[in-house]
Amino acid sequence: GYHRVLEENRKLYNQVQDLKGNIRVYCRVRPSLGGRLDSQSVVDNIEEGMITINTPAKYGKGCRSFNFNKVFGPSATQAEVFADTRPLIRSVLDGYNVCIFAYGQTGSGKTHTMTGPKDLTENSQGVNYRALSDLFFLAEQRKDTLQYDVSVQMIEIYNEQVRDLLVTEGLNKRYPFLFALQFSSYASLVHVTSMYDVIDLMNLGHRNRAVGATALNDRSSRSHSCLTVHVQGRDLTSGAVLRGCMHLVDLAGSERVDKSEVAGDRLKEAQHINKSLSALGDVISSLAQKNAHVPYRNSKLTQLLQDSLGGQAKTLMFVHISPELNAVGETLSTLKFAERVATVELGAAQVHRDSSDVKDLKEQIANLKVALAKKE
Ligand code: ADP
Ligand code: MG
Repeated sequence: GYHRVLEENRKLYNQVQDLKGNIRVYCRVRPSLGGRLDSQSVVDNIEEGMITINTPAKYGKGCRSFNFNKVFGPSATQAEVFADTRPLIRSVLDGYNVCIFAYGQTGSGKTHTMTGPKDLTENSQGVNYRALSDLFFLAEQRKDTLQYDVSVQMIEIYNEQVRDLLVTEGLNKRYPFLFALQFSSYASLVHVTSMYDVIDLMNLGHRNRAVGATALNDRSSRSHSCLTVHVQGRDLTSGAVLRGCMHLVDLAGSERVDKSEVAGDRLKEAQHINKSLSALGDVISSLAQKNAHVPYRNSKLTQLLQDSLGGQAKTLMFVHISPELNAVGETLSTLKFAERVATVELGAAQVHRDSSDVKDLKEQIANLKVALAKKE
């Protein structure tokens, strides 16, 4: 009995310590599409947290290695990729804010990781579905001590404009309950009680997203989409309420666009994407340097995520790369960006010494001890 409580607490404490104030970066390599290019893969080697790229002459022939918290090779399954994300889901229920991003050039597998392939099966479900399903599972486990309320929002940011994706079909009407975002914008907030609700809403969101896309231009690759989950837990004995929030973000394609080759709408889109992705990079590096001023206000994306980046929040970035030779330029710049983000971890890890953090953790452990003892 008591032994198990201690063991559980130790595990939880380590997990929370591990994630606290950190930005974790996981790299995922998509399999070659149309297998015959396999021999041409630029990925030379994958080992634990290191990926080595074979760079062709144009980029300085040789091998370059990059280090991350984890690297998933082309054969990693959706379940394997999600497994390391689970502690984050638990901490949303503990009242933390969490942000999970998918970064990478168009076609590198961001949507595959977050949502899954077009012909979705239970096995191929991505992080979004698995996260929500875990959330309901964990909430159910705690139902004797805590009563949880879960609500979701889905929005798209395109050219610095926010679009509510949970508008009801045909009528073009929003859900009656609107919820303020971090800026002067509102989006439908929908209460959900099961995975059936979530799947319905995600289908609606995906349909709404497609409506905005023209036949020629797949707009989804040039807009950020964000599924936000708000969790509220009420302690059944003390009545105390804790709130957690999770943003699941499928970012716009990170590829650089050749300015000499595009004009008009395409150029405008590219500039907006550049602006928001570099604003994100700036926020992350200023958090790393512990600057007093963090430039959240430079883009809609960073404004939206303000409460979930830095401070007590936990951030995970899935960085995606394509293995093909013709993508190697983008692959290298993606990996360099990601490495810059990953080094933040070293700086932020020192946040552990923050006494208020430790106090929070101790309180949390004390509460869990009580909860566990009650169960036995
Ligand atoms: P992005 O969202 O970054 O533009 P997608 O997720 O749409 O890229 O992936 C491009 C294509 O590659 C899709 O057809 C997708 O199903 C496939 N794909 C991506 N990642 C994987 C993977 N890990 N395993 C199998 N197929 C993948
Ligand atoms: Mg996509």
